[in-house]
Amino acid sequence: MKTATQLIHSIPVDELTGAISVPIYQTSTFVQESPGINKGFEFSRANNPTRKVLENLICTLEEGYAGFAFASGMAAIDAVLKLLKTGDEILAVEDTYGGIFQMFNHMIERFGIKVNFTDTSNIDNVTAAITPKTKFIWLESPTNPTLKISDIKSISKIAKQHNTLLVVDNTLCTPLLQQPIPMGADIVIHSATKYLAGHTDVIAGLVVVNNKSLADQLRFNQNISGSILSPFEAWLTIRGIETLYLRLEKQCSNAQSIASWLATHPAIDKVFYPGLATHKNHHIARKQQKLYGGLVSFSLKSDNIKNAIRIVNATRLFKLAESFGGVKSMLDHPATMTHRNIPEDFRKRAGLQDSCIRLSVGIEDADDLISDLKQALDKLNQPSGKQTTVLQ
Ligand SMILES: *Cc1c(COP(=O)(O)O)cnc(C)c1O
Repeated sequence: MKTATQLIHSIPVDELTGAISVPIYQTSTFVQESPGINKGFEFSRANNPTRKVLENLICTLEEGYAGFAFASGMAAIDAVLKLLKTGDEILAVEDTYGGIFQMFNHMIERFGIKVNFTDTSNIDNVTAAITPKTKFIWLESPTNPTLKISDIKSISKIAKQHNTLLVVDNTLCTPLLQQPIPMGADIVIHSATKYLAGHTDVIAGLVVVNNKSLADQLRFNQNISGSILSPFEAWLTIRGIETLYLRLEKQCSNAQSIASWLATHPAIDKVFYPGLATHKNHHIARKQQKLYGGLVSFSLKSDNIKNAIRIVNATRLFKLAESFGGVKSMLDHPATMTHRNIPEDFRKRAGLQDSCIRLSVGIEDADDLISDLKQALDKLNQPSGKQTTVLQ
């Protein structure tokens, strides 16, 4: 079966009733025939039929051993980090998602777990930074917002040589664009809040693991820590995934057109998009991704916060908001919004400029989106009419 068909038919018809839409089993507990004799469900924190459909679905799409659904992407990450113990170390991509950066720096270090950050887009850095205590290599590829690409297959080989698990946050790609487990990853994480649910109406997280031992440990963590996804949010996420293929194709083709157009604009310094031949690791992206994703970032020749804010205030179709992956186009100024909690020296080292603007490209018409960006960029040539508020 081709992916589009497999995706739709991995969502089962309800066996009990024939309902073609997955039923929302809004129940906390399940009546048992006799102690321990039941229909496979005992208590909804441990297992719930609606959540189970989503967990099986993401597991199938990622070609893993088992899937788990959590109340948010961060809750999913929290459960994965609880596989570690005091003294363990993580080797992490240097420009991780902002929330993960905070969790690594301000939470798990209190439990005696150390994180070493490095630019994993250069594989030599991974070999150099790994230590005998490294228990996880933690990747995001592409990263956000500068869309750096790391070579998942090659890094998985290093992980195996050092008896370390490879964890890949696959939020930006979804399994339709990139499948880390067949490339050698052990654990895949998603903020389903973004492309998977896809309609900016749900917060959800997913994890897929590649073997029984990890599955048993993670099932324990999910049940005992208890930050599970509710049946309704699970249903919304399943419903979102039903149209993922269509949405992503359109978002990727729009993003490619916008990135190519931005690259020709005189006010723009750099365009960050793995689908451009000028991207440093375009050859790796082409190898490990089916398409190049719906995020595009750019920086201005006049690299300052004020100019970036003039632009993000001027777009009409691109809505100014944090998050990404929805059907409606959005934009973000990372230095003052999503990435404001990351120290400036760290931001600069990761190549995140003051004027960087991140676009989450939606499913509108590409020409309309380009016209919107054009009229906003034109504002740079006009005297500023109203006072802009600089947030920092
Ligand atoms: C948003 C995001 C997260 C956190 O997910 P939430 O659903 O917001 O908790 C983790 N990783 C990446 C790459 C993200 O974009």
